[in-house]
Amino acid sequence: MRQETHYFGRFERSRINRYLGLTLAALVLMAAIFMKIPNLVRGVTYNAFREGFKQKALWTTRDMETISGEHFMVRYTPGNHQDAVLVLNTAEHFYAPIAEHYGYTKKGKIPVIVYPSRSELNRNFGWEANESAMGVYWTGIIRVLSPNLWVRADEPEEYGKEFMESGPMAHEFTHLVVDYITGGNYTRWFTEGLAQLEEYKLTGFEFDEPEPPWISPFIA
Ligand SMILES: [Zn+2]
Repeated sequence: MRQETHYFGRFERSRINRYLGLTLAALVLMAAIFMKIPNLVRGVTYNAFREGFKQKALWTTRDMETISGEHFMVRYTPGNHQDAVLVLNTAEHFYAPIAEHYGYTKKGKIPVIVYPSRSELNRNFGWEANESAMGVYWTGIIRVLSPNLWVRADEPEEYGKEFMESGPMAHEFTHLVVDYITGGNYTRWFTEGLAQLEEYKLTGFEFDEPEPPWISPFIA
């Protein structure tokens, strides 16, 4: 304890003053930057945040089966290959019209994770078990329920058609595109409106009722 008196010596005090001075200067500089180019700073910070969460999710799902197309890579659980192919093909089908409409040109395959049960999808988001979303977009990753959990058609062609027209791929991909082209600078009602609009234009699908109230940072 005796040694602590050392910190109150003249030498230490001048170091502390210098430290405080530098800290103050840094704060003033940051404030100036934030006031001058707030969107750029916010965008850079948000992009780092999104990339960090995305890489973490890719790492935790690294042992899942994976198939890739031109723009998407789909991760899925064993025995669900056929549904994974359908999810991939449907995502690729909607890529061009939505990407071109918003000028999305980012390189790199977009991760899609297919969950074999509603509880496994919901568990990732702390949602109630009865949450009805078929898909969720968050931090650069699209997560969807396996089509076999809700598609009713049996015949393969009808099965694929039902997933394409009533499934979440166009909707969730629009959320992703809005997120990237704005650097996270949007409100939830705005991205939800665009997602429902693109979905309606491309599939004719309309929500019967508003989506459930927002209770998490994840966008359904
Ligand atoms: Zn949505």
